[in-house]
Amino acid sequence: MLVDGTCIIVGGGIAGLCAAIGLGNMGIEAHVYESASELKGIGAGFGLAANAMQALEHLGIKEEISLLGHYLDSYHVLDQGGAILVAPSTQSISQKYQQDNFAIHRADLHRFLLSKIPDSQIHLGKRAVSFEREGDGVHVHFADGSQVSGQTLLVADGVHSLLRQQLVPGSIPRYAGYTCWRATIDNSSIQLKEGSETWGNKGRFGMTPLVGNRIYWYACINSSPQNPVLKRWTTTELLDNFKHYHSPIPTILAETRDSDLISNDIIDIAPLRQLAFDNILLLGDAGHATTPNLGQGACQAIEDVAVLMDELNMATSIPQAFKRFEKRRLERVNYICNTSWKIGKIAQWEHPLLIGMRNFCMKVMPNSLKQQQLNKLLSVDFMQIHRSADR
Ligand SMILES: Cc1cc2nc3c(=O)[nH]c(=O)nc-3n(C[C@H](O)[C@H](O)[C@H](O)COP(=O)(O)OP(=O)(O)OC[C@H]3O[C@@H](n4cnc5c(N)ncnc54)[C@H](O)[C@@H]3O)c2cc1C
Repeated sequence: MLVDGTCIIVGGGIAGLCAAIGLGNMGIEAHVYESASELKGIGAGFGLAANAMQALEHLGIKEEISLLGHYLDSYHVLDQGGAILVAPSTQSISQKYQQDNFAIHRADLHRFLLSKIPDSQIHLGKRAVSFEREGDGVHVHFADGSQVSGQTLLVADGVHSLLRQQLVPGSIPRYAGYTCWRATIDNSSIQLKEGSETWGNKGRFGMTPLVGNRIYWYACINSSPQNPVLKRWTTTELLDNFKHYHSPIPTILAETRDSDLISNDIIDIAPLRQLAFDNILLLGDAGHATTPNLGQGACQAIEDVAVLMDELNMATSIPQAFKRFEKRRLERVNYICNTSWKIGKIAQWEHPLLIGMRNFCMKVMPNSLKQQQLNKLLSVDFMQIHRSADR
């Protein structure tokens, strides 16, 4: 067996938990060290695009996860008045890639992933602060003064990763220029059926129906970083900001409780040149956090794990597997990060002239051109990239 010593995973997010499941499938007992005292996904939903569903299939958990959410029939980008700017042909995507886009509540996904890992392999309240190499092994030090040692370290502690910053000094999060609010609310009175994102002159608003008669929504507004005024905003200020947006946006905001609001500045990390460092590997947001404009952050974390398992199955040593992983992943995750950053800038335009020009171009652009970005993301087989060239 390739991994014959202890495998340490730092971070119990989607990347860390999927990695523990993937390794478990290979008969490897990986231990997850998580800073939080309880592991539960935050109260928001997210979309898993066709590529993520394909990666979950490689990990053998797609069918079970499919039962916890629902496939999206359509997803439109709209203008402030509700007119369609982009309507990707979900039918052609489904036919082409034999997968559909999927929406799920984070807490449901987390609960499921956790249920697949023995409790004895999950260690909570463990905030990793640094690592140190010794011989072929690695020691991880935690804020509580304890440490663990292992043969392999998977760094999956998200965009703020301290261990990444030790590996790549200066790789600190960068602010995208807009702040975001999210919440999940009841859908009984609104009866939202379709997912959409609205681009207006006072920010963006996205909404998606979830199973269990719930709606997941998010709103992004341009702001300086850590803006103390916006940090104090409640649904009253949000409703005032979006009151001229099309229905049911004002109603959704009016029906949201302040206590359900989650707010955070949108950040990513500038694309890295390296993900593999001998027996240490950066996974998920720790290695390639992206702005959420393509809805690909978690999708790429899951792809990471599928590719890693593939390489571990084939390689003759851990450093070799990690290096090959890096070759297969770097170009794709960096493309997504850069593209998402650019889309975010355009989507957040506030000047009426720029908005008018943008919306006109989006309306008259042929559908095939509009779908190019999506096709580039989905048509590339992430399980194959660079594989033959490297061997
Ligand atoms: C507003 C918004 C909307 C999004 N929408 C989508 C979407 O629709 N689709 C999509 O695919 N992605 C989306 N994403 C991105 C997605 O949330 C992330 O890419 C994904 O959660 C990354 O998973 P991860 O496991 O790599 O990192 P995280 O989810 O950040 O998990 C990291 C874990 O490590 C723990 N941790 C942190 N520091 C330490 C430490 N020092 N020691 C130990 N543990 C630590 C954290 O508590 C956490 O549990 C969105 C992101 C945002 C902000």
